[in-house]
Amino acid sequence: MKLVLATSNKGKVREIKHIYEDMDVVAYSDIIEPFEIEENGSTFKENALIKARAVFEALHDKDVIVIADDSGISVDALGGEPGIYSARYAGVDASDKDNLYKLVDALKEKGLTSSKAHYTAAIAIVTKDAEFSIHGWMYGDVITEPRGENGFGYDPIFIPEGYKKTLGELDDETKKGLSHRSQALKHTKSVLRSISKHTI
Ligand code: IMP
Repeated sequence: MKLVLATSNKGKVREIKHIYEDMDVVAYSDIIEPFEIEENGSTFKENALIKARAVFEALHDKDVIVIADDSGISVDALGGEPGIYSARYAGVDASDKDNLYKLVDALKEKGLTSSKAHYTAAIAIVTKDAEFSIHGWMYGDVITEPRGENGFGYDPIFIPEGYKKTLGELDDETKKGLSHRSQALKHTKSVLRSISKHTI
């Protein structure tokens, strides 16, 4: 069965195609005209479901599986901020750097140089018969001195549990083994296998 991704983000599409290489994976923007989806949910799960449902509704072929993801970082000392607002923490058009420095400044304002934090990834699956949601997490600490150039977003200030280096300093393979998105995508694969079996 065709797996339609509710994203046109090239990095995400590449990552998902790589993990699901035995499936027929396509970005929704390669089938229909891409459109704006308002992410007005109050949790990662709601926002992922909003995106997956919107794409499923817009498709003509209903014999497909749509998956969408939503992710972000939650910082304990900031009451869980930025959470679902991670991509737009410093404003709608903010860059990754703007967002990272807003977080650093928020910690410094509290007189802190670090805090416990975690990344969350929610994946939503929508088919004509059912909906599923799957989560993955990565726990660690955020610090106020960015280090390293690898990864993206908040990676230069995030040190995964059990490590001394930031995700900006660790290589891609190490991050892949730990990441919230990898965990969620791994479990999503099992759900997809089960759905495909039951729809044949
Ligand atoms: P999304 O594309 O709406 O899921 O937004 C995710 C946002 O959360 C990104 O723009 C980053 O700011 C942050 N984020 C999520 N996952 C990661 C990660 O693995 N590393 C760094 N930042 C991340």
